[in-house]
Formats: sequence, C-alpha cells, structure tokens
Amino acid sequence: MNEATDATADVRNVVIVGSGIAGLSAAVYAARADLEPLVLEGPEPGGQLTLTTDVENYLGFPEGVGGMELIGNGKDQAERFGAEFEHGTVEDATLGDRPFELDLSNGDRLRTRALIVASGASARWVGAENEAELMGYGLSTCATCDGAFHRGDDVLVIGGGDSAMEEALFLAKFADSVTVVHRREELRASEIMADRARDNETIEFRWNTELEALRGSQEDGVTGATLVSHPEGYPLEQAANGADVTRETVDVGGVFYAIGHTPNTDFLAGTAVDRDESGYLHTRTDDAGRATTETAVEGVFAAGDVADPNYQQAITAAGTGSMAALDAEAYLEALERTTAPALEVSQ
Ligand code: NAP
Repeated sequence: MNEATDATADVRNVVIVGSGIAGLSAAVYAARADLEPLVLEGPEPGGQLTLTTDVENYLGFPEGVGGMELIGNGKDQAERFGAEFEHGTVEDATLGDRPFELDLSNGDRLRTRALIVASGASARWVGAENEAELMGYGLSTCATCDGAFHRGDDVLVIGGGDSAMEEALFLAKFADSVTVVHRREELRASEIMADRARDNETIEFRWNTELEALRGSQEDGVTGATLVSHPEGYPLEQAANGADVTRETVDVGGVFYAIGHTPNTDFLAGTAVDRDESGYLHTRTDDAGRATTETAVEGVFAAGDVADPNYQQAITAAGTGSMAALDAEAYLEALERTTAPALEVSQ
C-alpha cells in the first residue's frame, strides 16, 4: 500500500449522523451520487416516524402510510444504491481539521471528508417529581409505543400541540379516559388535529394546568399525579412567584409527555458549528443570499428537525435531507478539484 492510499484508506466521503427520514433521504441522494455514504443509526433508529402510526400528509400516499413502512422503504431504497448502515452514537466530533473525526460511544473513531448531521430531536421531559424513576414504568413519551399497555386506564397527556392531540387520539383507542393537560387555555395544535381531539368523547381537557409530581413505583407503575392550576395559566411559574394555585391529586394509570423536542446536537458542543439557544443548528445562506444546508463549518451540513424548530414535518425533513446531500456532493467536487488524489472512494 503506498503512502497516499494509506493516508486515505479509512476516510469516508460522507458520514450521515441519523437514520430518520432526513438521514435516509440524504443517503439516497448521496448513494446515487456514488459517494458510498455511511449512515449512523443512533439510539432511536429510524427516528420519530417509527413512533408514529399513520402519516397522512406525506405526498404521494392518498390513503396515508405507516411511519415504520415509510422508514423501512427509505432504508431499502438507500441500501439499493449502496448506502451502508451501522449502529453508532457520536459522542464527540473534531471538525477543526480535515478530514473530520467522529468518536463513537463504542470507542470507534470515524474519519470523513463531509458530514451530514441529521440526528433529529428527542422528546422533552416536564421536570415533574419522580419522572426519572417512573419513565418507562407508566410514564412515556410515546403513545404509539406504550399506549396498548393502558387498556382500561385513565391517562394524562401533557402538552397542547399537534403531538399531544395525536397521542391523545391514539390513547383514546385503549384508555377509559384521556385527559389533555395544558398549561394555558388555548391549544397550539393545528385546527384539524384540535377538532379531532375535541370531537372524541374519550378525551377531556384540563386548561391552565401543569403536572407537578408523579406517584407510583417501578413495581406498580404510575398510580397518580399532582396537578397544579391557576386561572391565568402557567401555574408552576405562578406558584414560584407566590400566587395562590390549586393543587389536586388524581388517580391515573399512565402519563404521556408531548411537550416538544430537544435537538440532538450535544456532540457538536465543542465545535464551531453554530447552534441557537435551544441547540438547533444554524445553516448559512450562500453569497447570493439563498438558503443552504451548510453549517458554520465548511463541509458540515444539517438536515431535518435538528436544524428546524419550525416546520418539523416528515416531508420537510426529507426535503432538507436531499438538499444536504446535494450540498455535500458539490462541496466534495470542489474539494476534489483542489486535492484531486485524496478523493478516491475507499472502504
Ligand atoms: P409543539 O408544537 O412545540 O407543542 C408543544 C406543546 O407543549 C405546547 O402546547 C407547549 O405549550 C407545551 N409545553 C412545552 N413545554 C412545556 C412544559 N415544560 N410544561 C407543559 N407544557 C409544555 O410540539 P409538538 O406538538 O411536538 O409539535 C412539533 C411540530 O411537529 C409542530 O410543527 C407540529 O405541527 C408537528 N407535528 C405534526 C403532527 C401532525 O400533523 N400529524 C403531529 C405531531 C407533530 P405552549 O403552547 O403554552 O407553548
């Protein structure tokens, strides 16, 4: 093996961090461009769509499509064009030098010329007393995963957005009663989702109310919850400011959190990749002022929810995935023009 080959032997063209719909879409495009992408499947392989039942608003499926099916098909499609998949969670990224280095939690180190971050966003926790002990024991962030365990139970859903409506509607198929607990008296959810929840006789709403504590044990599961209310909303904040709030303990067999997500970008903390105060990645505009998927580090691109606190739709994530792959391809072509011998595809 000569020196030049040796130096590039273990360097990938593109590593895609995340195997949700954004990562898969990026993989299809990168693989079709002969870049032989490696897709890292993290702690939630397939991403959030694998936790969804029917996706009704993804273009091209008039009857809707199962989230699992959509993701499974996407993975098959990417593999068909040569994308590789590997389980791996990135703990640390070194992006100051070329090639980039990624340290995985299993101790492996990957080297890549371009990086596409499609690591998505994870469910947020409320911060209620006992939640860490009871998560997975009657407390859940995923109704489609755990709803069937709550046949005949009374359950709470915390949140007022589309996720909360979706979780409540799913749980209504199993539970005796579903109470949506929202911290103010106006839902954030879209009208169509809110109407469906309002029209469902199993679903009730508790306005201006928050969850303060959970009762139960890992042996018995969740058995109850303490709710706090204030007529002007945001009761926990009101209580912290000394206002009188109403506390009530209710018997419930399950609690589901649906209060949004936090982007999975901790591994980029020590790098020059720019993030907002919530951790969402910033992408830059080009010289003509048009949007790109490139982050503040040349050669590092972002796709899907990890860079999108706003739309967070399957179709927008897939769209930005394809954009990131096209941007990465253009970046690698430019790199090839300046460092031609270093760009041979290896592995
Ligand atoms: P979201 O729209 O950000 O809603 C989060 C909800 O949780 C809000 O109602 C918020 O209250 C509440 N909340 C936040 N922090 C809280 C806390 N600490 N304690 C109590 N409540 C808290 O998040 P999402 O529902 O996950 O939706 C995210 C995106 O995905 C949206 O764009 C949504 O449209 C989309 N989505 C679409 C579908 C669908 O179309 N089928 C399904 C799911 C999600 P406030 O309203 O007071 O801020």
